[in-house]
Amino acid sequence: MIIVLKTKTQDKDVQNIEQKLGLLGMKVHISKGEFRTIVGVIGDDNKVNLEQIKSLPYVENVFQVLKPYRLVSREFREENTVIKVGAAAIGGKDFVVMAGPCAVENEKQLLSVAREVKKHGAMILRASAFKPRTSPYDFQGLKDEGLRILRKVKQKTGIIVETEVMDVRDVPKVAEYVDILRVGARNMHNFDLLKEVGKIRKPVILKRGIAATIKEFLLAAEYIVAEGNPNVILCERGIRTFETATRFTLDISAIPVIKQESHLPIIVDPSHPAGNRNYVIALARAAIAAGADGIIVEVHPEPEKALSDGVQSLTFPQYEEMMSQLKKLALAMGRTL
Ligand code: PEP
Ligand code: MN
Repeated sequence: MIIVLKTKTQDKDVQNIEQKLGLLGMKVHISKGEFRTIVGVIGDDNKVNLEQIKSLPYVENVFQVLKPYRLVSREFREENTVIKVGAAAIGGKDFVVMAGPCAVENEKQLLSVAREVKKHGAMILRASAFKPRTSPYDFQGLKDEGLRILRKVKQKTGIIVETEVMDVRDVPKVAEYVDILRVGARNMHNFDLLKEVGKIRKPVILKRGIAATIKEFLLAAEYIVAEGNPNVILCERGIRTFETATRFTLDISAIPVIKQESHLPIIVDPSHPAGNRNYVIALARAAIAAGADGIIVEVHPEPEKALSDGVQSLTFPQYEEMMSQLKKLALAMGRTL
């Protein structure tokens, strides 16, 4: 950490900050220039309360040299983390497709999607039993009944299943029913929920918050890993910008940035940023080209009858077309699909 002191800082202030940092076990290097004094701090600056240092009257600015996230950073672990679940490995050579309806609606619907998505190469079935909806009057999900249907469909088809968990109290129950838990965009900042999914060992898909920076996103992942669960799959799902032609703006540039910053796998949700099924395949192609480890995409047997997100859900023929395009791209990108 580098602390820049204000001009005309007095010697007693320099001694004061030196002493404060020394008490925290930090090594301090004072560099006195003609106009300014710079304090170089060596040691684990996690122990230093940044806000307190910044608020000292004689401090001009503080720069962190170390990344604020530790366990999820590339510095901490150079090689990619590969998360194994059943026959799937996320973060390795495989490009993993997770596909399914926005929500579990009934057994017939989920079974038909599961069979269709599996047939064309998806390894994981996505479907929400608990739905975070903008309006309290919209369909809120089948809840426990949805979990039972997910388990049944897994048993019947052998597909790996994932679902969203919204409530801290539901984490153990949801973990009993599905293979992978998902923390949705609206809960990326729910630190109690992050800590709770950190206590289990099942993989967790962490979606980027609607207005979260990459730094905040990685710090949210750090909460889960710091609690003891290293199996975090990051998911870029679009952020809110001034653009209204699409539902959200897919931040495709987040993929190379996150690949550089973190060893965790990163997948893309092309459905929620598109908000319209006509744009989904293009965004899925962009995901594989940008180096993502997979996608999580919405597919529905009858999108016009879907209880949520029908407009952006791919029809079965569109899904098949997407998979055929992605298989060609996977080859070009040196990935297997
Ligand atoms: C979802 O994947 O069903 C979902 C609600 O997405 P998000 O949390 O990204 O809005
Ligand atoms: Mn949805």
